[in-house]
Amino acid sequence: MKVGFIGLGNMGNPMATNLARAGHELTVHDLRREAATNLLEMGANWADSPRDAVPGNDVVFTSLPVPRDVDAVVLGENGILEGATPNTVYMDLSTNSPTSIRRVHEICAEKGVSVLDAPVSGGVYGAAAGTLAVMVGGDKAIFDRMKPTLDAIGSHVVYCGPIGNGMVCKICNNLLSMGIGVLMTEALTLGVKAGVDLATLADVIANSSGGNRRLVEKFPRFLFKGNFDPGFATALAAKDVRLATDLGREYGIPMELSNLVDQRHVEAMFRGWGPEDSDAVSKIQEEKAGVQLRLPNV
Ligand code: NAD
Repeated sequence: MKVGFIGLGNMGNPMATNLARAGHELTVHDLRREAATNLLEMGANWADSPRDAVPGNDVVFTSLPVPRDVDAVVLGENGILEGATPNTVYMDLSTNSPTSIRRVHEICAEKGVSVLDAPVSGGVYGAAAGTLAVMVGGDKAIFDRMKPTLDAIGSHVVYCGPIGNGMVCKICNNLLSMGIGVLMTEALTLGVKAGVDLATLADVIANSSGGNRRLVEKFPRFLFKGNFDPGFATALAAKDVRLATDLGREYGIPMELSNLVDQRHVEAMFRGWGPEDSDAVSKIQEEKAGVQLRLPNV
């Protein structure tokens, strides 16, 4: 397929790389041209704007930080919609607001342009390995047509229902991931303060009913190593928790605990940790408890 790809950051670059490796012909764009260096070396074409990444392509992907970036890149001046025709399929791989992508879908539909939401989970390691979970919302027939292309970036590509439903699944997942991160840090600082060494505590929990992927996959790569290079930036994690609490307000769902998780992320942002990996949020609890959760050799 001929593919346009906009947003070549921590996630977009490895996803685009896997699409190129799978034999797709890429045209790429990012605000930072240097983000495309490896892809241009692999034979990708450069586009000077989102609009220029569209003509002649079967599908155009975005992987962008926050909802307003997606709105600007799709609907703004020199945006995707300006370059699109009724044959264009646009897919948003970002973690975006369901309400925003449903609005983008409506506006694009007026021009006959098809939109799918396809947020991903699995982090930068999953993106590099091509093993992401991909949660897709939109027209089922277009999903079926695009599924082989999505298989190049993910090993668990799931149709979630109408437009926006992929984002709903992703936001619920990330709320849990971030919430578990906060609770795990409380439990681990408690256990260490009460006398158990961290390696033993982490091993026991990982093999018991409190075990979870945050503990066995994420913490060993980031928090336990004291490695706060993103990864998944705290600013993006804070955005995702807020997308969840906003959705709760929109649908009238009480979310007391989620709002505490939200405020913990707000505090991390105030500390200036937005650009650091999302495990940086744990530093607040480490500080309060007077315990550092470090296992440099895991
Ligand atoms: P990132 O900040 O590393 O990359 C975003 C890229 O978009 C950057 O290269 C930036 O220059 C580019 N960009 C921003 N605005 C642009 C614009 N107007 N035009 C063109 N390019 C623009 O972010 P990321 O970690 O790759 O995350 C991307 C999306 O994927 C986010 O929505 C995030 O929540 C989601 N996500 C991230 C992870 C992760 O582990 N990092 C995992 C799953 C989902």
